[in-house]
Amino acid sequence: METLTLQASLDWATVQTADWDVVVVGAGPAGIAAAMESTRLGLKTLLLDRQRHPRDKVCGGCMNAVALSQLAALGCADLPDQYGAITVNRFRLGIEGRQIDLDLPPGRALSRRSFDAALLTEALRQGVQFMPMVSVRDAGCSSAARHLILTRQAETATLKAAWVVAADGLGGRYTQGLTGCQTQTRPAAYIGVATEVGDTHGYPAGIIHMASRGDAYVGVVRQENNRLHLAAAVHPATLRQAGSPARMMRQVLQHVAWPVPDDLDSGHFQGTSYLTTRRRPVALERVFLSGDAAGYIEPFTGEGMAWALLGGRTVATLLPAAVSGQNGRRSAEAWIQTYTQMIRQRQAVCHWTTRCLRHPWLIRAMAELLSRLPGLATPLIQSINTPPARSTLP
Ligand SMILES: Cc1cc2nc3c(=O)[nH]c(=O)nc-3n(C[C@H](O)[C@H](O)[C@H](O)COP(=O)(O)OP(=O)(O)OC[C@H]3O[C@@H](n4cnc5c(N)ncnc54)[C@H](O)[C@@H]3O)c2cc1C
Repeated sequence: METLTLQASLDWATVQTADWDVVVVGAGPAGIAAAMESTRLGLKTLLLDRQRHPRDKVCGGCMNAVALSQLAALGCADLPDQYGAITVNRFRLGIEGRQIDLDLPPGRALSRRSFDAALLTEALRQGVQFMPMVSVRDAGCSSAARHLILTRQAETATLKAAWVVAADGLGGRYTQGLTGCQTQTRPAAYIGVATEVGDTHGYPAGIIHMASRGDAYVGVVRQENNRLHLAAAVHPATLRQAGSPARMMRQVLQHVAWPVPDDLDSGHFQGTSYLTTRRRPVALERVFLSGDAAGYIEPFTGEGMAWALLGGRTVATLLPAAVSGQNGRRSAEAWIQTYTQMIRQRQAVCHWTTRCLRHPWLIRAMAELLSRLPGLATPLIQSINTPPARSTLP
């Protein structure tokens, strides 16, 4: 389904003059989910993004069972079908000269260009107020509001919100500019690169292919447009040494003896900043951080969108009490605690998995074991794909 450019749902004057309960910065899965839930809870909510939508995002576009459960909770269970998302139910790992196939609970693959635009379209239908192409910076806090500076082309305006949800992703300038919020990047963190090609030969639909080498891994999946999406996490020195993202991907695919798409060299590549980033604290005065803005690990376990949707929905449930002004501090503490239990614990699994991949002897042992006993991966796969129990939510 082709998606048209998404227009602002209100004018620039209204953006500046309205009394906003909540401003959500960033219209990725975390921000859209937070804005939908906040609007549904009756709060006057504005969603802003610095880009024009639809927009591309470096991401494999694979939604796991947790991401799908969060979409259903947002009233968007049919969205993957409507946009032709491909069902994925197998993970094929190329590692140390072996190919290991693992069954997955059904997930879906949909290009991020389509997915984010589709979710945003649904958010607008549900009444979320949205303006694209507005870059947001923080301007501090007063006793009654958080202040924001908005830039749209050559125009600048200021805005007040009772509460802000910072969902501006990994490299978002809004979160980076928040006084009192520390950013920690893991030493030797990888960066992300991605491209899309037309030659799908050797990569059947429905399988997430992951070619792994000690210093990089490349995920390959067919998306709804029947094109092949390649998304990699790589040590920056490895990328420099290879000379180009295409050459790096070629080397990793050849390392596991998988086909290299004919048109890889002519692909358009996009990159990210350092991936493994942690922000502390994830709640400040009148601001909650959510999605990648609060912290990200790596794409190996394919969970980023699940963390973002789950975090966005959950943080919104704290907004009514926070906005009413009675429980600001308590709401902040509640989010820090919930985030630690709900998201950081899930990220720890990804953290340790990707750490193992850096050690050649561990990779060899893992490859040997999994090729004989693939069922050993089942508990890990189940834990990644199990949504949190209702009782753990605030
Ligand atoms: C190589 C790679 C592959 C991946 N593959 C997968 C996968 O297959 N499955 C999966 O679940 N996850 C995957 N991920 C992770 C996933 O892409 C992210 O975790 C997810 O997009 C996080 O969503 P978000 O809403 O927090 O941020 P984003 O999706 O990054 O959205 C942030 C938004 O904020 C906007 N913004 C930024 N700064 C400002 C500002 N100052 N003012 C206004 N707006 C601003 C941006 O324009 C953007 O639209 C992958 C990541 C990488 C790097």
